[in-house]
Amino acid sequence: MDCTHLEAVREEVSKCVKCGLCLSVCPLYEEVPRELLFARGRNIVCEEILSGRSFQWQVLAERLSWCLGCNRCGRSCPAGLKAAEVTFALRAEAIRQKGLPLFKALLPHLITHRGSFGLLLSLVSLFQGFWIRNRPFLRHLPGFLKGLRLPPVRFPPLRYRVAERLVPRGKRILKVAFFLGCATEYVFQKAALNFLRFLLNRGVEVVLPRGQVCCGMPFYGWGDRKGFQLMVSKNLKAFSAVDFDYLLTLCPSCGQVLKGFYPDLMAGKTLDFTELVVGLLHKGEGLRGSLAGKRVTYHHPCHLAAQKGIEGQPEKIIKTMEGLEFLESPNGCCGMGGSFAMEHPELSQKMASKRLKELLKTGADVVLTTCPGCILQLSHTAKREGASLEVIHLAEVLL
Ligand code: SF4
Ligand code: SF4
Repeated sequence: MDCTHLEAVREEVSKCVKCGLCLSVCPLYEEVPRELLFARGRNIVCEEILSGRSFQWQVLAERLSWCLGCNRCGRSCPAGLKAAEVTFALRAEAIRQKGLPLFKALLPHLITHRGSFGLLLSLVSLFQGFWIRNRPFLRHLPGFLKGLRLPPVRFPPLRYRVAERLVPRGKRILKVAFFLGCATEYVFQKAALNFLRFLLNRGVEVVLPRGQVCCGMPFYGWGDRKGFQLMVSKNLKAFSAVDFDYLLTLCPSCGQVLKGFYPDLMAGKTLDFTELVVGLLHKGEGLRGSLAGKRVTYHHPCHLAAQKGIEGQPEKIIKTMEGLEFLESPNGCCGMGGSFAMEHPELSQKMASKRLKELLKTGADVVLTTCPGCILQLSHTAKREGASLEVIHLAEVLL
């Protein structure tokens, strides 16, 4: 059988020594102890397909949905196996063999029309209360949308609320390009606007190319390589038309895909915003923030931990913020994992409740994090469980 995507990871898979260490760190294996679903099992499945065994792609696609994309398995593998790449390759192969459902096939084309897509999201966000109250209606939605809980969506999209080029009043020290990302552009506009102000006050010029679109992470994640390539080509066109020192993002999922799967023109310049903030801080400088007097903890997003170059920058920033009390929290996964929360809403919520309990145990009033997905998941869970805990994007509180 012709398995193009699996051939590309043949060498990677052959590194597996079947030690099982990946299972001991997998947050899902703890909840669903079915070995074949996770990294070691996927390597075995991949090897078997490559050696000619036939599988039912529909069944395999369901099995492959049991993954948060956190790459804890890859980071702890003693053989240095890139486990996430094997998962993505298996998903891409499953899509190549069995095709995409209509909704997923149309989404890349819809998402590139930023104004219309934003309007559609706003309408879904406004009327979802009705859908959720009248549950039978959910049965008629595509499977992908069944776990949907959209937060209030801002309209118009952020690109229509700010100029394409923002110039600081004083001396310019750097020029950065800003990657909007869907969550920032449509939901977390306050964090983005605040952060843009922070950059301008520090002498950083910012360009926001109008032609940019989604980073493509959802498409890469569920195996739609064509959809992903459409995003790459549009973003490359938009960003190659401007000159910049760094490409910044407020979303770790965008950062992960830009650093990991984009051509060097963008990948080589991509920074999570926390990397730049730490670089801008003067030695011993205290940062002003809007959380003076609060007890604050930090939730470390899996997709940020998985990135090259991330070594505690968010915690460093929070610890330099004046007037707040910082409380350490153990690392844990919120259970969001992009489309995982939509495919397995019950387990995803169970993991979120567990993570919420850990965060509440610290005694904090506020959880800071750097991931829009984690904020949606944790704040939704806190609200549902009646916990008085605010979950805020770190970029929103920098002054
Ligand atoms: S930790 Fe690495 S080598 Fe060990 S079973 Fe998992 S993937 Fe294979
Ligand atoms: S990426 Fe995370 S959830 Fe998926 S198999 Fe690896 S450790 Fe488990």
